[in-house]
Amino acid sequence: MKELTNFKAINDYCSSVRRYLHQHPELSFHEDQTAAFICGELKKLGIDGTSVADTGVYAVFDSGIPGPTVVIRADIDALPLQEEADLPYASKVPGVMHACGHDGHVAILLGLGKILAENPPQKLKGKVGLLFQPAEECPPGGAVKVIASGILDGADYILGSHLTNRLPLGQVGIRPGSLMAAVDCFKIEITGKGGHGSSPHLCIDPIITGAHLVNAWQTIVSRRIDPLQPVVLSTGTFHAGTNFNIIPAGATITGSVRCLSETIRAEVESEFRQITETVCRADKTSARIDYTPGYPVLHCEPDLVQKIRKAVDASLGANTVIQMPPVMLSEDFAYYGQAAPSAFFFIGARNEAKGFIQENHHPRFDFDEEALVVGVKAYLAILQAE
Ligand code: MN
Repeated sequence: MKELTNFKAINDYCSSVRRYLHQHPELSFHEDQTAAFICGELKKLGIDGTSVADTGVYAVFDSGIPGPTVVIRADIDALPLQEEADLPYASKVPGVMHACGHDGHVAILLGLGKILAENPPQKLKGKVGLLFQPAEECPPGGAVKVIASGILDGADYILGSHLTNRLPLGQVGIRPGSLMAAVDCFKIEITGKGGHGSSPHLCIDPIITGAHLVNAWQTIVSRRIDPLQPVVLSTGTFHAGTNFNIIPAGATITGSVRCLSETIRAEVESEFRQITETVCRADKTSARIDYTPGYPVLHCEPDLVQKIRKAVDASLGANTVIQMPPVMLSEDFAYYGQAAPSAFFFIGARNEAKGFIQENHHPRFDFDEEALVVGVKAYLAILQAE
């Protein structure tokens, strides 16, 4: 009979992996050292990692017993952000930081790989694909490349998770159906006619059109879409002009649109184009509209979500799993739903007593590393569930 897994040792291992990666963050599709580190760790476990999607790594653990192929995905990239916290394991790369916890995601997956390789649970069947995906933070993202590579063909289901300080340590958040939003980006280049600030009647002012548009777009949310359907439209940039007394010839506006249904997503785009064109016509300006689809709605397969709830509650304690409301954040994990049934869950990492309270993407983001072993245990439980 094999020894029971020493979860204290696994937590220490996960923590050391996470801290190493936290000090050496790399941006999307530049995760070369990260991939080399992951391959090195896998090799120590006797597992061969192969390259996928340029800077990602894929490895398969085979239990030797017939059963499903379950792929578990961790994203591995960091963000262009200067870390502000004075931590002993703070980023050593100026302007780059693991501010979304992807360092922790890698640590969880390597911790799981360590258990599978050294002390596989007796109830485990089939194969486990360990997918270290690059470039989650940079649409169109790494997931589409992973799927296009064909490496996941034949997967029975695909799982992923995210550390979050929105949930307390020890809690796991799930939701059947739409869990995270689709996101699209827009860029509008308005053309008017420039001239002297004293003579607007001789010009066509693109700033007026821009101001009208910023307001008019909000009526998509408030007047055009069913109020029971969540939509967020945010203007992110508005650039125009060079001096106080000049009416510029053009203006450029960018922003993002998020919603929780693909039907609503199409409706919003159509309304957006219509409003933009109509406002421009009224103002005698013209606009070039770039409306770029980003990540789709992240849909969690209800049967899989039920399986996760049962398995995790049984392993980590009743009421570990809570059903959470959907979030308007977006994730390229959403694409995996097009490759196989998939589900995603959140792993709570907030601990007020220890000061782990900042939201992901904050320059002082940090999380309770005890959450890493929660993630490992959750995956172990799901892999052994019937
Ligand atoms: Mn993230």
